[in-house]
Amino acid sequence: MIGTISQPVDGPAALARVADEVRACTRCALSQRRTHAVPGEGNLRSDVLLVGEGPGAREDATGRPFVGPAGQLLDELLGSIGWGRADVFITNIVKCRPPGNRDPEPDEAAACAGYLERQERALDPAVVVTLGRHSLRRYLPGARIGEAHGRLRRSFSGQHVFPMYHPAAALHQASLRDTLFRDMRGLPGALLEARAAIEAERAAAIQAGEAAEPAVIPDPGLGETSQMTLFEGD
Ligand code: URA
Ligand code: SF4
Repeated sequence: MIGTISQPVDGPAALARVADEVRACTRCALSQRRTHAVPGEGNLRSDVLLVGEGPGAREDATGRPFVGPAGQLLDELLGSIGWGRADVFITNIVKCRPPGNRDPEPDEAAACAGYLERQERALDPAVVVTLGRHSLRRYLPGARIGEAHGRLRRSFSGQHVFPMYHPAAALHQASLRDTLFRDMRGLPGALLEARAAIEAERAAAIQAGEAAEPAVIPDPGLGETSQMTLFEGD
């Protein structure tokens, strides 16, 4: 387990609500040809959010993210640093499969963006790992993947973003495989760096009197135990 530093108390419940709404969603035309919507899955308390582009054929057939060939490589990449899918939360820019795996249209990404925003708020990850250009564009609009990959950056809204190539790209272009594995080796360090920056900013804000309340507000009904669970670094 890679643990977490903080999360809204009702984060897991909020993630479940988003998933339910996504499965019933008809906000864009992608709903018409899907077999299953793919809300995302993983550790509901993870500090690491992986964001891909959109479901492919196997994802559409199963309702689960990254379970096809690109997903196999993603599993290998996570395994190479001792992580697994149970350590991270994985989702996509659009939750329904674009026909023939075409790129999502801007209006489709826009229609779906509210779900991702709610997932971000509910999980409150220390790092967002973007997989591929579409995901990168959402967080760092001006960035180019060739320059941005493998290095921790801040988005305009202050999120810590770790851009990576899309695993599917390495299935077409073998040279990207090594790049993906090398970048993945940098992710644990990027996570530590992001956590340290978040803690330092929180401490500075408290000192300045801007954030008198704790990051995780203890539920009076659950008390100490629930707060300690949220902070444990197992
Ligand atoms: N490619 C993606 O971007 N997302 C998936 O879930 C699967 C393949
Ligand atoms: Fe709704 Fe997103 Fe699916 Fe479009 S892609 S139907 S907005 S869940």
